Amino acid sequence: MGETMVSPVLFALLRISSRLLSVPTSCWHCVRLRKVNSGNKATRLKVIPRDQHCISRQNISDNALKVMSRLRGGDYQAYLVGGAVRDLLLGGHPKDFDVATDATPEQVHALFRNSRIIGRRFRIVHVQFGREIIEVTTFRGHHDSDGEANTDKRSSHHSHQSSSGLLLRDNVFGTLEEDAVRRDLTVNALYYDSKSFEVFDHVHGLSDLERRTICIIGDPATRFREDPVRMLRVVRFAAKLDFKVDPDTAAAIPECAPLLAEIPAARLFDEFLKLFLGGYAQRTLQLLQEYQLLGYLFPDSVQHLERDTIAQTLVDTAMRNTDQRIRDDKPVTPAFQLAALLWPAVADLARELRERGEAPMVAIHSASQQVISQAAQNLSIPKRFSLPMRDIWEFQLRLERRGRKAAELVQHRRFRAAYDFLLLREESGEVADGHGAWWTEFQDLPENQQLLQISHEKEPRTRRRRKRRRSTTS
Ligand code: ATP
Ligand code: MG
Repeated sequence: MGETMVSPVLFALLRISSRLLSVPTSCWHCVRLRKVNSGNKATRLKVIPRDQHCISRQNISDNALKVMSRLRGGDYQAYLVGGAVRDLLLGGHPKDFDVATDATPEQVHALFRNSRIIGRRFRIVHVQFGREIIEVTTFRGHHDSDGEANTDKRSSHHSHQSSSGLLLRDNVFGTLEEDAVRRDLTVNALYYDSKSFEVFDHVHGLSDLERRTICIIGDPATRFREDPVRMLRVVRFAAKLDFKVDPDTAAAIPECAPLLAEIPAARLFDEFLKLFLGGYAQRTLQLLQEYQLLGYLFPDSVQHLERDTIAQTLVDTAMRNTDQRIRDDKPVTPAFQLAALLWPAVADLARELRERGEAPMVAIHSASQQVISQAAQNLSIPKRFSLPMRDIWEFQLRLERRGRKAAELVQHRRFRAAYDFLLLREESGEVADGHGAWWTEFQDLPENQQLLQISHEKEPRTRRRRKRRRSTTS
């Protein structure tokens, strides 16, 4: 394999805006190029030696180092890969550490008692150390477009593709080079060898890090057809890293976006969590709207946000607040974000039901139910989130009414979230009756003063139901 020195690559312009990636920039200066044969395609492998990049073992989880060392001891290859290498090169702190190896899932499992094989579509091994999980994946290999493996390498489970190109199963194992080109984005396909301390780059990942560009590996439309979730990943990483999207990658999105409808609601919900709870929800939402992908997650919300600036402000503010809470290390719940994203649809439907004669509480209750069951067709929202969402919505009416039960409401376990939601509605200009300020003051009063204050409050008028006369004919 020939090796050549190439001129220094300067990364002085690498401007990292996020907190995660806020540390220094110029990590690697020169690289060696090797020609590698990967299947029938020759890829150029760049090797960056230890003294030319900023990755230090000190910043790598001890457990990940242990896993790689034991794999190597078993005569297997083992590399750190994916987000960890990307974030370390950008000077940040990875949130998890993934390892790639040529050992099959069974071979990995045999090496670690604290491991289990998971997944069917994509079999991987989780090695568990207390609360930390090191995800170990076997190098993926090439397969033909008809879904049959074109290699006979150690693949006990093969790949399977739908007629539209969707990869239903991807368990064809291969070499490191093949694995690199089967990954999603160039910046996610960098490998770090914890023994030689070198970084391996087969797909121009380094230059895309330098250009601050999110670029899909291979033909974008084909890769999106194989797995439409990659479109959401493009948006997620563009938002997280504050990178631009490569024009060819972006150009394939409109044509492939409808394929997201084929993705199971459970997987989309997992992806929703990654998109909105990673600390970059506001920018992510903006990009999902820009690339017209939001409708595959929240079809009911898209039109409301397009035509109603107050609704858009409310949702933006909710996302911005969540990002801020994550930066401040405060707890966040997807229930609050979901409540905000679906509120415009709930409020609209409740208004419609009231106009048709329903009592306000009944209207909000049945609007909540309808919107949640509609949303569940795209995202399978677990009950532990949908129940608090409903409470937050239904509470709005009670907060607007105040009344003699105010002291009890303040004690309710959902009060805080519902009150924050009311403030959000006021901040966006949806309601302007000063209820938020009233509750802000009220909740801090001593109990006796609370009681005094509510004794002056008028009881809200409730509509009496007319007793229905029993029919005598039935
Ligand atoms: P982070 O963990 O910081 O969110 P990550 O890049 O590690 O980012 P993961 O979802 O943990 O993302 O995935 C690990 C790696 O697996 C990715 O970096 C990528 O190389 C590969 N990968 C994940 N999902 C896909 C996919 N849908 N198609 C191809 N490769 C993927
Ligand atoms: Mg990861």
